[in-house]
Amino acid sequence: TLTSDVNTSATGGTTPAPTGNRATLSPGLKQATPVVVDHATGSWIHGTDGKSYLDFTTGIGVTSTGHCHPRVVAAAQEQCGKIIHAQYTTVMHQPLLELTEKLGEVLPTGLDSIFYANSGSEAVEASIRLARMATGRPNIVVFQGGFHGRTVAAASLTTAGTRFSAGFSPLMSGVHMAPFPYAYRYGFDEDTAVEFALRELDYLFASRVAPNDTAAMLIEPVLGDGGYLPAPPAFLAGLRERADRHGIILIADEVQAGFGRTGKFWSHQHTVGLVPDIIITAKGLASGFPISAIAAPTELMAKAWPGSQGGTYGGNAVAAAAGVATLAVIHEENLVENARVRGEQMLAGLRKIAAKFPQIGDVRGLGLMAGIEFIDPTATSSSPVADAASAAKVQQACIGEGLLTLTCGPLGNVIRLIPALVVTEDEMTT
Ligand code: PLP
Repeated sequence: TLTSDVNTSATGGTTPAPTGNRATLSPGLKQATPVVVDHATGSWIHGTDGKSYLDFTTGIGVTSTGHCHPRVVAAAQEQCGKIIHAQYTTVMHQPLLELTEKLGEVLPTGLDSIFYANSGSEAVEASIRLARMATGRPNIVVFQGGFHGRTVAAASLTTAGTRFSAGFSPLMSGVHMAPFPYAYRYGFDEDTAVEFALRELDYLFASRVAPNDTAAMLIEPVLGDGGYLPAPPAFLAGLRERADRHGIILIADEVQAGFGRTGKFWSHQHTVGLVPDIIITAKGLASGFPISAIAAPTELMAKAWPGSQGGTYGGNAVAAAAGVATLAVIHEENLVENARVRGEQMLAGLRKIAAKFPQIGDVRGLGLMAGIEFIDPTATSSSPVADAASAAKVQQACIGEGLLTLTCGPLGNVIRLIPALVVTEDEMTT
């Protein structure tokens, strides 16, 4: 018999009776701006408040080709009419084959095998599973300030703020943190910071984590949520050398800094000759459609046993079609070079502004990733004292001026600017 809280529909089916709930978004989510988008194009978000905002957040570094690039929109629309989802380990679809071919063309030689998932966190986890399966070793070394996601394993690898892991311990075991060469914070020049960080890494290997028990070193070549801090090439070269020496897998998390954003296709390419063993990519890969990937040499990828990697939605057909279109737009509109040139313009402009405000301690970045670090100019300590309140105040004031930005850094005192790769000279001057 039917229970009393079920209505009988005219067709004989049943629909649940309204519960009277008034659902709202979780209070655990904090929106960085009050903007509700009506529609968006290129670098601009047009709000339901009738205002237009220059979007230097890009969905946290995702809408690489700008909002609603016509080519990406057309590719997704067309794909929706063909097949939306098949699950590629069950039935293969054309967009994923095409994306694999096109992605292969921009990957370093030798990284010729690709696994697809949906999000950065899932891809990070896939890379760690692979490294552990391939080496049979338990430990993972990460670098201070790294952000690798919010799933429990990805949060275990994240040191960009305790807010990303507090309250739900125990985290994954076997994760060990080494310093990142944060020259400004240490009050060092870059060479000294690199020397210090590599020496501390060697000390970690000598004192606590045997290198031959270490599966991987996982690094963001440009720290994202940790404060928009590029790793000096000498540091990344030092990691490569140690990885080779000890048979450790070097994983480059290119989720935020990859796909042309820094003025090279991959951010690790600023270190001449460096090739990681695994590259993780997501965000800019499909201009806003959820898809992520890891790339590695086939012999390495083959070490993951069937069933160990995968997921229902991974490598979705519409997202893959958007990825193919994204790559075409990046090539045809010369967006990697645009990121380099506009990035230089952005940093030069920010440095001029910084010269006028003692609260801005550091301006840094690479391509279209720029960080502005706010400090207390009256502090007398030897290392800078973070001023998160000023960063938050400026970020909010920018909204009033029609510019959307985000803050980041473990201490929340860095404003990050993440324009779309299509940003123009005029927009940057605005
Ligand atoms: N890795 C990096 C460098 C990131 O910036 C992010 C997200 O910001 C992630 C991993 C996690 O990606 P997702 O949020 O898609 O899970």
